Amino acid sequence: MVDPPSAVHVIELGTLLVWAEKEGRRPPWRELTDPYRVGVAEILLQKTRARDVEPVWQQVVDRFRTPQALANAEAGEVFTIVQPLGLGIQRTNRLKCMAAELAAKGTSGPLSGLGPYGQAVVALSGGREPSSIPVDGNVARVTCRYYGMTFDRGEPRKKPDVRAAVAHLLDTGSTPLTKLKILYSLVDLGEAVCKPRKPSCPVCPVAPACRFAQTCARDAINSRTAEANANARGGGTASETRRI
Ligand code: SF4
Repeated sequence: MVDPPSAVHVIELGTLLVWAEKEGRRPPWRELTDPYRVGVAEILLQKTRARDVEPVWQQVVDRFRTPQALANAEAGEVFTIVQPLGLGIQRTNRLKCMAAELAAKGTSGPLSGLGPYGQAVVALSGGREPSSIPVDGNVARVTCRYYGMTFDRGEPRKKPDVRAAVAHLLDTGSTPLTKLKILYSLVDLGEAVCKPRKPSCPVCPVAPACRFAQTCARDAINSRTAEANANARGGGTASETRRI
């Protein structure tokens, strides 16, 4: 279990937000505080790249301007629009169910077709506190490395400790929309900098407080020292320690 964010973590998160402002992705739904349009995006993004989703999302929200309009739409018409992304029937059903529930009860409860991450993003976009902790693969990877958490088995994003750590990070945001910004920043950092195989720690905005980066730096120093000692003794090479 990690401790709540210390002052140093809060400072690093401020740096992260500044980085995301410049380097983060800007799909149109991220600028919106409309749970309907954000919910449509989250369903279209399932197993699909954001750049493929953008034109289809635009068509859906232009054609069906309210949740009620999408809920009442002919399934065939929705299918025709979303089919290029694949999963046409599943997506059509999920979109229509989610829209019907939004039209009936707003974001006051869980919405069909969205996982815990999507549920939380929709709630935050509407200015509500989420009932689930939004942890996707990128967020889990960044958080684990940042706090130096490792697991022998199982998916990190499903671990209670990781969810608690993400909740702590998001809680540094004073409003749901600030929390959403922090979340998107973590997603973008995981995609652009803290990549699965090769994190770019030297250019990472949170490197000064990141346990993984600190461990790598220490390993590099130890490795260079061992190599220098081996050379001084007149032979042998130090083995390189890798941490992925
Ligand atoms: Fe990831 Fe490195 Fe940044 Fe840590 S410093 S979050 S490991 S890229």
